[in-house]
Amino acid sequence: MTAVTSSRVLVVGAGPSGLTIALELARRGVPVRVIDKAPGPSGETRALGMQARTLELFERHGIVGELLRHGLRATRFNVFSEGRPILDADFGDLDSAYPFLLMIPQDRTEAILAAQLATHGVRVEREVTLAGLTQVDGGVLTVLEHADGTAEHSSVGWTVGADGAHSTVRKQLGLDFAGTSFEENFTVADLRVEWARQHDQFFAFLNRGRFVAMFPMLEGWHRVAIARRADDPGTGDVTLEELQRAFDATVPGPARIVEVRQSGRFRINQRRASRYSVDRVFLVGDAAHIHSVVGAQGMNTGIQDAFNLGWKLAAVIRGDASADLLDSYGSERTPVAERLVDGTRRITRLTLLKGPVRTWFRRHLAPRVLSRVRTRLTRAVAQLDVSYHDRSGAAPRGRAAVGDRAPDAPLVRGAGGARRVHELLDDRGHTLLCFDLPDGVAEEATAGIAAGGAGPVHVAHLTGEHEAASAYGLTAPGAVLVRPDGYVARRPRLEHPGNDTAADRVRSRT
Ligand SMILES: Cc1cc2nc3c(=O)[nH]c(=O)nc-3n(C[C@H](O)[C@H](O)[C@H](O)COP(=O)(O)OP(=O)(O)OC[C@H]3O[C@@H](n4cnc5c(N)ncnc54)[C@H](O)[C@@H]3O)c2cc1C
Repeated sequence: MTAVTSSRVLVVGAGPSGLTIALELARRGVPVRVIDKAPGPSGETRALGMQARTLELFERHGIVGELLRHGLRATRFNVFSEGRPILDADFGDLDSAYPFLLMIPQDRTEAILAAQLATHGVRVEREVTLAGLTQVDGGVLTVLEHADGTAEHSSVGWTVGADGAHSTVRKQLGLDFAGTSFEENFTVADLRVEWARQHDQFFAFLNRGRFVAMFPMLEGWHRVAIARRADDPGTGDVTLEELQRAFDATVPGPARIVEVRQSGRFRINQRRASRYSVDRVFLVGDAAHIHSVVGAQGMNTGIQDAFNLGWKLAAVIRGDASADLLDSYGSERTPVAERLVDGTRRITRLTLLKGPVRTWFRRHLAPRVLSRVRTRLTRAVAQLDVSYHDRSGAAPRGRAAVGDRAPDAPLVRGAGGARRVHELLDDRGHTLLCFDLPDGVAEEATAGIAAGGAGPVHVAHLTGEHEAASAYGLTAPGAVLVRPDGYVARRPRLEHPGNDTAADRVRSRT
C-alpha cells in the first residue's frame, strides 16, 4: 500500500474559509498549499456583514485595522412589520471591543486575507482544480487539473475542503449534504436610495410575504436583499424598476432608488454535511454547511470553523497533541452549524409570513417578545455566545464556563502594555490567565497543565483587575486556561498553595 510522510496541508478553495485556515496553519509554521479553480477572486455580490466575534479572532492576524479601514460600522438594526417598528436593537451594548456589524464586501475581505497570507510566503495558486483524492496510509493522494489541461498527481499529509457549497472534496468523501430549499427567490443589488433614514443602520422591512433588507455600505451605497413571493419568482436581469416596485410595496415612507451598480438572483438552501472530517480530510465553511443569508452568518461561521480547526491541526502536525484532538473539530462545530441552520430557518420563515392573522401576531406580539430578548439576540447575531460547553452550540448567559468564549474586559492597570484581556491571549498556544496569584503558584500550575498535554502555555499575570476577574466568574485569586482560538480550556482549581505538588494543585474543573 502507498504511504505518505508529508506534513503539508492542501487547502482547496481560496474563499474566506480557505484563506483563514491557510493563515492559521502558515503562521504556526505548517507548510500549506492553497489552490482555487477560479482565475481570480469572485466578483459576485455575497457576504457583507462581518460579526464582532470574527473581528475578535482576526485580531490575532493583525488585520483588524485594515478590515475596519475598508468597512462601515453599522451600530443598530431596525425591523418593521407592515410599516410598524417591531425591533430596534443596538450593537453598542455588546461586550466586545467591536460593538457593531462591520459592513465590508466579501471580495475586500478575501483580498486582505490573501495579502496577509502572502506575508507568510503562501500565494494562492489560481486555475488549479481538485479533481480527485484518495486517502492512503499517512496522507492523501490528489489529482489536480491545471488551466493548460495538465493533470498533477501530488501527495500531501492532510487536505482541507474549503471549496464551497458544491464541494468536490465532500463529494469525493461520499458524504451526504442533506437539507431543504426555501421556495422563495431572492434578489440582491447594490444601490443608492434617496430617503430620510440614517445611513449607518441596518433595516429590514417585512410586509405580507415581501421582505426588503438594507445593509449600509461605504460611500452612500446599500446592499439590498429582496424576497420575491413563490408565485412571482422573477427572471432575467434585475432592473431598477423591479427593485423600485419591491420598495414601494414594502418600505414605509418615500424611498427612491437612484442608481444600481450590481445585482443578481439566488435561492436559499439549507444543508449540512453528514460529517466534518474523514481521517485526514476536513470540510470547513460552505462545504460543510449552508443556510439562509438572513442574519449574515454564513461567511462568519466558515471563518470560525477555520479558527477551531487551525490550531488543532497545527498542534497534531507539530507533535504537540495526539490525533484524537482532531475529533473535537466536528463534535464542537456540528452543534454550532445545527443551531445556525435551525435559527436562520425560523427567522427567515418569520420574515416571510404572508397571512393576515400571522402577520397581525408578528406585528403585535413580536415587539414585546423581542424587547425581552434583545441583548441575547444581538449577542447571538454577533456570534459572541458560541460555546463548546455542551451540545447546544451556545452559552446564552456568558458564564465563562469551560468551552465558552473567553470574555474580553478592559484592564485598569494593564499588563505589558495590554489594555484589554484579549490582548493578553497568546495566539499560538494556550494562555493561563492568573488573577492575583501569589508568586510561584502560577508557574507550578503551568507546569501541571503542560504535563497534562495542553502544549505550550503562556502565563499572563493580572493583579487587582476586578472587572476582568468578575468577567471570568472569579471572586478570589484563581486561574483560567484559554485555548489558542479564544475559548476557555480549563478552570484549574488551585489548592493549598505552598505545601503540595503542582500536579495536586491543578485539577480540571470541567
Ligand atoms: C447574496 C449573499 C449574501 C451573503 N451575505 C452574507 C453576510 O452578510 N455574512 C455572512 O457571513 N455570509 C453571507 N453570505 C454567505 C457567504 O457568502 C458564504 O458563506 C461564504 O462565501 C462561504 O465561504 P467559503 O470560503 O466557505 O466558500 P466560498 O466563498 O464559496 O469559496 C469556495 C472557493 O472554492 C473554489 N473551488 C470550488 N471547487 C473547487 C475545486 N474543485 N478545486 C479548487 N477550487 C475550488 C471556488 O472557486 C471558491 O473560490 C452571503 C451569501 C450570499 C449568496
